[in-house]
Amino acid sequence: KSLAAIDSTQSSINAYTHVARESALAAAQQVDTDRKAGKTLVPLAGLPVAVKDVLCTNNMPTTCSSNMLRDFVPPYDATVVARLKAAGAIVMGKTNMDEFAMGASTETSAMGLTRNPWNPEYTPGGSSGGAAAAVAAGTVPLSIGTDTGGSIRQPAAFCGVTGLKPTYGRCSRYGLVAFASSLDQAGPMGWSVEDVAVAMQAMAGYDPADSTSVDHDVPDYRAVLASTDLRGIKIGVLRDSTNQDGVSDSVRKAVSDAEKVYRELGAEIVEISLEHSPYWVPTYYVIAPCEASSNLSRFDGAHYGFRAAEGARADSDLEGADEMGPLESMYRNSRAAGFGSEVKRRIIVGTYALSEGYYDAYYNQALKVRRLIRGDYDAAFTQADLLLGPVTPSPAFALGENKDDPIAMYLCDLFTVGANLAGVPAISLPAGQDESGLPVGIQLQAPVMEESRLLFAGNAFQ
Ligand code: GLN
Repeated sequence: KSLAAIDSTQSSINAYTHVARESALAAAQQVDTDRKAGKTLVPLAGLPVAVKDVLCTNNMPTTCSSNMLRDFVPPYDATVVARLKAAGAIVMGKTNMDEFAMGASTETSAMGLTRNPWNPEYTPGGSSGGAAAAVAAGTVPLSIGTDTGGSIRQPAAFCGVTGLKPTYGRCSRYGLVAFASSLDQAGPMGWSVEDVAVAMQAMAGYDPADSTSVDHDVPDYRAVLASTDLRGIKIGVLRDSTNQDGVSDSVRKAVSDAEKVYRELGAEIVEISLEHSPYWVPTYYVIAPCEASSNLSRFDGAHYGFRAAEGARADSDLEGADEMGPLESMYRNSRAAGFGSEVKRRIIVGTYALSEGYYDAYYNQALKVRRLIRGDYDAAFTQADLLLGPVTPSPAFALGENKDDPIAMYLCDLFTVGANLAGVPAISLPAGQDESGLPVGIQLQAPVMEESRLLFAGNAFQ
């Protein structure tokens, strides 16, 4: 069924970069055989999942939607993928994304754009746009995305699905091709909060292969879904975000409607303001490119994937290009041809901010502001159990609308990057539609390691 749904939507939506037809069929047949033989099945036996193409999959391409990795087939699974497979899930394929997860619309992909299943003229968001669209189009009930600055939550909101960014360190990053290592987290996207809870159960937990993985018990996430009684819970509404200029009426209404729902469920509503939130986007857009410029230096034409010819390029106007040795010119040509323009922009910004003489003014300063941002969250969570606010300033935007305007694209991250900078978990929940029928989302944020609080309150809202 999942393969049939992929086949009937792939040409119009393009959610997938690779469909794992044979291995998925073989795995499904195995589940069938086991079931008929009366074997005890593992919890997720036969559950179809789609995996963002930034997570390594054994024997299956992992392209990061980049020409740089077009032919890269890793010899191992990322830990989160291995854990889902061990729990019985079947990987149906890899999903499209912004190149190296840099973007908010899936338009920077080298594998073509993905369309929003609700309206094909609109973007599905990004960077996990394919993973969100795969769920929204009904091809799988569950997909795995990654979130460095909002890439699970924003596409989930644009496509009307549920997306959880776990606490930094909650899910292993082993096998996740790094964009910004101190911000990246893998997490589930699904039709319902329950789907997301089930996936978290399999994915979360300590992994010695990731040095930033946290050794902390994984609670029973499904057990918290039994109650919808929010008496005794304090929800802090982020009024400053919602009231900001440029936030659309449909988003404002979704947040105030959610506030009413929570009040009716017994929660106490308080007002919270995160003092340094105006600095979230500027801080993120220093730290993330700095880390990206370092992480992406490994793609040099020698180690992975694509390699261009050595020697001067015919179209090169770079000073000194003719004097480069064969190795240096091979590096340069491979990176020039392998990376798209948004990736190059980030590498240039990051390299500049890390360079001698600028390091203290930009990178170090950003780290200090990051500390203040984390402090705001610590203070907020002494006054509230959860924070409620928007995911994005508006519902999905049209394809092409922000494509040539990086600043407009970066402003999509206005309400999401705080959770990554502070390392706290956050969930995006579907909260109705705007007047044109596009989905609108709301966001809940919780203290570190309190994913179960998000699932509990998210489920009660649904
Ligand atoms: N839109 C943000 C960016 O372009 C977030 C990306 C992400 O979370 N991977 O960096």
